[in-house]
Amino acid sequence: MVFDRIFLNARFDGGTRHHIAVKDGHIAALLPADAPAGGVETVDLANALVVPGFVEGHIHLDTSFYGDAWRPHKPCTNGFNVHERVAFQAQNMAEAAPMDVRARNQLDLCIGHGTTQMRSHVMVDGSVGLKSLETILRVREEYRGLIDIQLVAFPQSGILASPGTPKLLEEAIGLGANLVGGLDPASFDRDVEKHLDVVFGVANKHGVDIDIHLHDMGTLGAFEIEQIAARTRALGMEGHVAISHAYGLGDITMDQLKSVADKLARSGVAIMTNAPGVRPFPPILPLRNAGVTVFSGNDNIRDSWWPYGDGDMLRRATTLGYRSGFNIDEELRVAFDVVTTAGAKALRLEGYGLRVGAKADFVTLNAEHVPEAVVAAPPGRAVYKAGMLVASNGKIVGR
Ligand SMILES: [Zn+2]
Repeated sequence: MVFDRIFLNARFDGGTRHHIAVKDGHIAALLPADAPAGGVETVDLANALVVPGFVEGHIHLDTSFYGDAWRPHKPCTNGFNVHERVAFQAQNMAEAAPMDVRARNQLDLCIGHGTTQMRSHVMVDGSVGLKSLETILRVREEYRGLIDIQLVAFPQSGILASPGTPKLLEEAIGLGANLVGGLDPASFDRDVEKHLDVVFGVANKHGVDIDIHLHDMGTLGAFEIEQIAARTRALGMEGHVAISHAYGLGDITMDQLKSVADKLARSGVAIMTNAPGVRPFPPILPLRNAGVTVFSGNDNIRDSWWPYGDGDMLRRATTLGYRSGFNIDEELRVAFDVVTTAGAKALRLEGYGLRVGAKADFVTLNAEHVPEAVVAAPPGRAVYKAGMLVASNGKIVGR
């Protein structure tokens, strides 16, 4: 086979060395490090650690103010309140730079750190209609070739609480959204059955996957998770549904967790956690050990919900490990798996990983191995998409 390009001297986690031969944007062969590589364009990776591109599993491209003016965080009047935060967000967004500018800022940030695959939620509800989605769809088109993006039609103002939203969610799928979302069926819309009827109804009718925001805590959250798992099985949608946050899983007894985790595993419902702040969050190891796919994302980056976030999935792995008390190498590799391979599974990505036949999407790191990369999140990365350099040292190539 004639290759398009050969990346020389790639060091994989575990210490094996290869030349990565690329053809048509895919890994065509992993050649032994002593194999001759003449007659074709070569790029010397100089024994850098090479890992698959990161999977950003949950972000909001429409609501970040990264690269825009700093907007001081406004606390809720009485504890965390989703309704109040949504109202603050509407005020902030009205004064912000245009959405396409802010979305590009955020994409450049994420790609610069090594993200090659992304799932973004975009507001689709009675308050903004399809306007935000139309903007983000245009930006997604501009970034084709740099990053693959799945978009979730996200009812940020509720489905039942926001008139017209069920129809808008359907129209969003017609426009190009890939998944249908949901938001706290109990605490926000106050009707779990009717909320899930709409979400699963749209998914079933249009053959799309589901990713539901669920902030509800304790047994209420666990109850909703069980309802989602039961509907997933009833519709034969195993592997096609995710729950984002699922804070309730970190806020119940171990016995309760075991029971819910078994249902999640049987229904193939994945759990997204970004291990945020002081909140309880889904315990990664017990869930994985029960067979649940756990993935991650930055979620909010400098938006109306909090001032944090840097778009770096490797730094997110640091946070996941730190908050989980991961110290041994095996655990640090789990944190890494959550932002790479497990993310690819949750997003049902085809051709992911450092293997023959996969897309040539990879990142070089200045680290001895994955455990060190997770704790250090080192700078000085090169990011390759389909075998082409797209970012170097945090900057998009050509800009
Ligand atoms: Zn979110």
